Amino acid sequence: TVKAEIIGVGTELLLGQIANTNAQWISAQLAAQGIHVYFHGVVGDNFNRCVETFEAAQRRSDLVIVTGGLGPTEDDMTRDAANELFGQTLLEDAESLKRVEHFYQKNNRIMSPNNRKQALVFEHARVLQNHEGMAPGMIVEHEGVLWIFLPGVPSEMKHLMEKHAMPYLYDYYDLSTEIVSEMLRFIGIGESQLEHELQHMISSQTNPTIAPLASEGEVGLRLTAKGETKQEAGTMIASLKNRILAKVGNYYYGSGEVTIQQKVIGLLKEQQLTIAAAESLTGGRFTDQMISVPGASSVCEGSLVTYTPAMKESLLGVPGDLINEFGTISEECARSMAENVQRLTRSNIGISFTGVAGPDASEGKDPGTVFISLRINKEQELVKKFHFNGGRETVRNRAVKKGYELLFH
Ligand code: ATP
Ligand code: MG
Repeated sequence: TVKAEIIGVGTELLLGQIANTNAQWISAQLAAQGIHVYFHGVVGDNFNRCVETFEAAQRRSDLVIVTGGLGPTEDDMTRDAANELFGQTLLEDAESLKRVEHFYQKNNRIMSPNNRKQALVFEHARVLQNHEGMAPGMIVEHEGVLWIFLPGVPSEMKHLMEKHAMPYLYDYYDLSTEIVSEMLRFIGIGESQLEHELQHMISSQTNPTIAPLASEGEVGLRLTAKGETKQEAGTMIASLKNRILAKVGNYYYGSGEVTIQQKVIGLLKEQQLTIAAAESLTGGRFTDQMISVPGASSVCEGSLVTYTPAMKESLLGVPGDLINEFGTISEECARSMAENVQRLTRSNIGISFTGVAGPDASEGKDPGTVFISLRINKEQELVKKFHFNGGRETVRNRAVKKGYELLFH
């Protein structure tokens, strides 16, 4: 397999002034083609350290992609540093030089001599013409290692990767295999439990591969298959997906770009149910996420955000006696909030959120304590107590997510 390495050149990267988004983007492109990236490196605008970094890459990698340091200024030294290894003659690329000159004419500016530097290329390089900027990219083979040099400006880098470098790599490494991947989305099951359920599948699987990833109360599984044709890879994915869903299908809510909010709206639409929320600690976030989904208007009636006990009483109609007896962070209050919002809006479903977002305790309850109540028509009623870990925003987000999870199940 090809061992790839990506090197970012620029002191601003080391200083933390910008993030190395170039490496992230290139990695994703290479991964999608099945090229494994073994190293990400960043080096400042320093000649000796650039040479050192490039020498290490020459020793350990098959493919090295370098971004940045191709510009006109003193501190742009990628070319010269790389040439310490290559030992080639640097030539002026006519087309690039024309582009640089044209840029200065067009902008009525005087071109200082150092700007010619941008048009310099290695004598044995394949030049990647940069139609988005000035410095061209280059592809050079040196002692069995393929080197690709790209400008640091992200838009130029992407342009050259997509137009020139990726097609080149495709031929060079004969990446004729087709890759198909699918993201399966689960809710209501933790990452470790999911991995446990699928343990032998995950560990024994090489093609397709299964990669779990967790985010805010949800888990995803990315299935990636390689085949001779897209169809073959697709069939492999489909059969693995069946085996996975046979085990943990209860928690599966969709694939690809679908969100739990869209899924829930879809289900409510199908069943022609309307919903309204009474939100306290979530401050309207549950409803906000619902309304973000196009078509929510046929399902979502609205919500009441009642934060203080007085508002819960006056606006929602939670009985004052109930609040005095049990407090607002209680099963009883959650139930009453859901009931009242359902009644006031004449919705099929009332859902409520009340709890302690933190960081301090409230009404003697620990931060993270949340009650969610769900009332569906006259029959079903559910009140659940949760304890979410994390800071204030995490608790609020987890509560909202849990609301969607309860509606889904
Ligand atoms: P050019 O000559 O096309 O201006 P260059 O090759 O000289 O580019 P740099 O001067 O190193 O490249 O970087 C230009 C700009 O591109 C930087 O100011 C920065 O905003 C951005 N940039 C550089 N490297 C990266 C990176 N690794 N990730 C994201 N952005 C980057
Ligand atoms: Mg520059």
